[in-house]
Amino acid sequence: MEKIRMKTPLVEMDGDEMARIIWKEVRERLVEPFVDLKTDYYDLGLLNRNATEDKVTVAAAQAAKKYGVAVKCATITPNRKRMEEYPELTKMWPSPNGTIRSIIGGTIFRTPILTGSVLPAVRSWKKPITIARHAYGDVYKAVDLHTDEPGECTLTFKGRSGKEIGLSVREVTGPAVWQAQHNLDGSISDFAAACFRYAADMKQDLWFSAKDTIAKVYDGRFRDIFEEEYEKYHSDFERLGIKYFYTLIDDAVSRVMRSEGGFIWACKNYDGDVMSDMVSSAFGSLAMMSSVLVSPDGCYEYEAAHGTVTRHYYRWLKGEKTSTNPVATIFAWSGALMKRGEKDGLPQLTDFGERLEEACRETLAAGIMTKDLALLSEGEVGCVFTDDFISAVAERLED
Ligand code: NAP
Ligand code: MG
Repeated sequence: MEKIRMKTPLVEMDGDEMARIIWKEVRERLVEPFVDLKTDYYDLGLLNRNATEDKVTVAAAQAAKKYGVAVKCATITPNRKRMEEYPELTKMWPSPNGTIRSIIGGTIFRTPILTGSVLPAVRSWKKPITIARHAYGDVYKAVDLHTDEPGECTLTFKGRSGKEIGLSVREVTGPAVWQAQHNLDGSISDFAAACFRYAADMKQDLWFSAKDTIAKVYDGRFRDIFEEEYEKYHSDFERLGIKYFYTLIDDAVSRVMRSEGGFIWACKNYDGDVMSDMVSSAFGSLAMMSSVLVSPDGCYEYEAAHGTVTRHYYRWLKGEKTSTNPVATIFAWSGALMKRGEKDGLPQLTDFGERLEEACRETLAAGIMTKDLALLSEGEVGCVFTDDFISAVAERLED
């Protein structure tokens, strides 16, 4: 069989532990036999990040910006425990995802991968719900203060022009806690643009929720910026027959619970943090979530939403076979290949990505699955090891 040719390389970011083991298997057994794979490879494994003083992460992000499509394996973000585990580390290197996001910017879209046998905990959900989380500011960049005497707290903005705006937060008669948050118009409009563009790509409705009845200025600004941005996409949305609407976060929550799914839900930073965990748990498992970072200038980075699956890795090191779910990793590759095919005008490549996903779905539908899914499944299922699952997908793909 002739392999599918590529034009532009895919930026490939390798990672750590069990995710790295699965990565190699997926690449070698599900992609390379069918695609004449061209990648610009970066080893973001912890030891190589250490050896290169993390320059490799920056280089990988710049390559993603240059070529426009990347696929990333899960990586270890070192903490104190990891510093003990890897004594050769010269520094507690920052989160690669954080570094990459700060270079290419953008919004993360997380979508559950549905299978017929794992029923969502919410009975009405039939189609995936994608959460788009704004990943800048609000409570994540807030400043906090605790005070222990009567007094007044004020908030002051000093403009470069010399203009000053002051506000009394409140006078208190006893101990109190305080917090000041901010966001940037530029970051909000990039977020809004990414959401509108992604909704048009996916041909799905876009919901945006906030609390502008209470935070009239703050959340009101988000709402207004979304409205302004929508003007640019209005005609695209009409042509595609999709809708944009804004609603209060509490109304959105109750509507989501009664919906069939099949839409994109744009959330402010905190709401997105909380709601994406709720939505992914209710749909099944983190090992069944795909995730893509989309930058304002149209750069895409695909990954699995889960981590490096450390516990399984230590069993693997002892020579045990593990039943680690490779589905989210497979979908990271398929997503990236499809996007590369679309950008380069290579329909065979896009087609291959679709077939790879289809082969995965067929395998699951045949009741062949890893342990995490077998535990959640209804009906007859066979729990298999990772390599058997990949073999079953490969067989269907060859067909
Ligand atoms: P994790 O690797 O996602 O694993 C947590 C647990 O979830 C696993 O122990 C496993 O449960 C289950 N699980 C996750 N993925 C699975 C899969 N594909 N198949 C089967 N079960 C799966 O999260 P973590 O333990 O919090 O983090 C481990 C490391 O990953 C950390 O060093 C962290 O820095 C890193 N991390 C990286 C990323 C990223 O690069 N995007 C994201 C998150 C975390 P059982 O053990 O019960 O089977
Ligand atoms: Mg969270």
